[in-house]
Amino acid sequence: LMMLTKKLIEIRSILMSIDHNETLRLPSIVVIGSQSSGKSSVLEAIVGHEFLPKGSNMVTRRPIELTLIHTPNNDEEYGEFPQLGLGKIFDFKKVQKTLIDMNLAISESECVSDKPIELRIYSPNVPDLTLIDLPGYIQISNRNQPESLKNKIEDLCEKYIRGPNIILAVCSANVDLANSPALKASRKWDPLGLRTIGVITKMDLVSPQAGAAILRNTDYPLHLGYIGVVCKAPENASNGNMTHALIKTEEAYFRSHLIFNQRDIQVGTSTLRHTLMNVLEQSMGRSLYSIVDAVQRELEESRYQFKVQYNDRKVTAESYVAETMDCLKHDFKDFANNFGKPQVRHEVRTMLEQKVLDICAEQYWCDEKIAELPKATPEDIYWLYKVDFASAALTKSGIGRSTTQLVVDVLMSNMERLANAESFSYHPDTRQQIMSFTSEILRTKFLATSDQVENTIKPYKFEVEINDTEWNEGVKRSVTLLEKELEMCDEMAASIKNSVGKKKLKSAINYLLDSQREEARRQEKSQSLDFNNNNNRQSSHQQEDEEEEEEVVKSFYNPKLLEKAKDAIYLRDRAMILKYRIAALKSRQCKSSENKQYCPEAFLNVIAEKLTYTAVMFIQVELLNEFFFQFPREVDNRLVYEMDRKQIQQFARENPPIQKHLELQERKTKLEEVMDKLNYLVKRQADRQSSSNAN
Ligand code: GDP
Repeated sequence: LMMLTKKLIEIRSILMSIDHNETLRLPSIVVIGSQSSGKSSVLEAIVGHEFLPKGSNMVTRRPIELTLIHTPNNDEEYGEFPQLGLGKIFDFKKVQKTLIDMNLAISESECVSDKPIELRIYSPNVPDLTLIDLPGYIQISNRNQPESLKNKIEDLCEKYIRGPNIILAVCSANVDLANSPALKASRKWDPLGLRTIGVITKMDLVSPQAGAAILRNTDYPLHLGYIGVVCKAPENASNGNMTHALIKTEEAYFRSHLIFNQRDIQVGTSTLRHTLMNVLEQSMGRSLYSIVDAVQRELEESRYQFKVQYNDRKVTAESYVAETMDCLKHDFKDFANNFGKPQVRHEVRTMLEQKVLDICAEQYWCDEKIAELPKATPEDIYWLYKVDFASAALTKSGIGRSTTQLVVDVLMSNMERLANAESFSYHPDTRQQIMSFTSEILRTKFLATSDQVENTIKPYKFEVEINDTEWNEGVKRSVTLLEKELEMCDEMAASIKNSVGKKKLKSAINYLLDSQREEARRQEKSQSLDFNNNNNRQSSHQQEDEEEEEEVVKSFYNPKLLEKAKDAIYLRDRAMILKYRIAALKSRQCKSSENKQYCPEAFLNVIAEKLTYTAVMFIQVELLNEFFFQFPREVDNRLVYEMDRKQIQQFARENPPIQKHLELQERKTKLEEVMDKLNYLVKRQADRQSSSNAN
């Protein structure tokens, strides 16, 4: 009988999920009443369970969109919060707890929110109804409930009590109806009283005569009338269905007073239920054609937009995820193909060559005796010892770790580049995930690789055999390196000269060199003066004079300039040594590895090359190949296969253009579905009409 309501409630749920600006609304029953009027008790009597948040401290802070779904062939009774995705909740205490939590999520300062909580209740004992429970009107504002809250609640209720909704105005029998805010609000939006049902609660608290008088309502007539109820929950209310006990008490009360038997009086929760069902069914019937029009318009609009914006191209969250991951794997493959032995070798070689230069600078170029090296005898212990020391500084510097770390760093930075690709710009979490399992893979390979490398270069710590070709290559490379270093020295010197000015720099340099010489002389002098105590006084005078003089000059040159002059002197010295060493490397002395102590730069370079070759070989096998093999598999395992439907949806929706595309597509699909259902209903209504006409 109530087919239309049932079908349209289904449709209403679908429309609610796609329509947020409420253009596509089907009628619902809005429940309003002041606090403690018995609003919750009435709703619970209809549902047959205690499930609403109750208590003195205004627990309903958000509207509750309550959809009741009659399930005649199923004994199960349960609630569902479609927004939360918690599944079926069979325990109504848990439903209540969830509602309380969702209410409390609204902060005290906000007080009320117009974001509704959706709750569906499935049961063979409920009628098909949609009800909206609104926060109760408050009459007296106190410290905890300021005036603004009162207004907020009134605004919220007004939003819902507009047509085509049906207003269920709940008033308590023991409060003068003239004071009922629910009736006041209903009169404002439904002045003729056409879509308002009055519910008078707590009929047991007034005399039957007074109660009957209220229900006859001569003062505030309503087209749909007033219904009196007694909704006192039985003391022993458990989780079981309470309707029975409740209705028994109620029936007993109304039956015991003859006055309620009169025809012009409506009483009882069952009467209320039936009235609600009938009124809603009629209202749904009236709304059918207008909703068909509205849905048709919306559907045409979304079809048009879908064509214009996306050329009717369909997209799914799944295909988007697959595409994004394929993109990553493709980029990775490109990178893996282009990052092989030669690239790794280049990285490692560059690092070791730098190390060689550092060792040469520290061990040789800073050595004051370096100028004497070419003239030293082949047996000179000093230089023989030094070359061994320098080669040890290279081979025992922890090559295994430093080379492996270098390659790991290069890989990490390349992976960062891949993860920062445009396709991941909307997915910071996934980006994080990629980096975290990249570093996890590399971390697990790190120790084994660096140990392997360290082991295989071990022989070089004791002896390095060099053939002629290797030596010649080493000499050539070291000359190139030193020339590059020299070039850099010259460039830096030139840039200092440019920034300071040639003349200024020259005079600052001269000043520095002079004062260095002066310093040396003075030290000599003070040493000789120390022997001669008699002249102490005079010397200290003399010193003071000199210091004063120096102050003057120093303040003439600013400290930054002197700093630059110092750098310039250093660079000049370094350039000189480099030129000198380049010449030595090109000289006859360096033609053979026999003379390695004369050509440490070349010797270290040959070792560096051997270390590079060996290290790269193992890094390639242990680290690189493993990583290139494992990474794409981890992408599948951790990103693609791990995602459930919800995560896939979430991932796709992180991307705003995709989100928009999906939304429009979903809207279109759902509107099409709704349109099909509506067309069926329209056809059925028409059939019915024609058959009833025929009768
Ligand atoms: P709400 O604030 O409007 O939701 O009101 P409640 O449903 O929480 O009811 C307020 C109080 O009135 C509660 O203590 C109920 O037990 C009581 N109450 C509700 N309906 C009746 C009734 O029909 N008769 C009696 N005597 N008390 C009722």
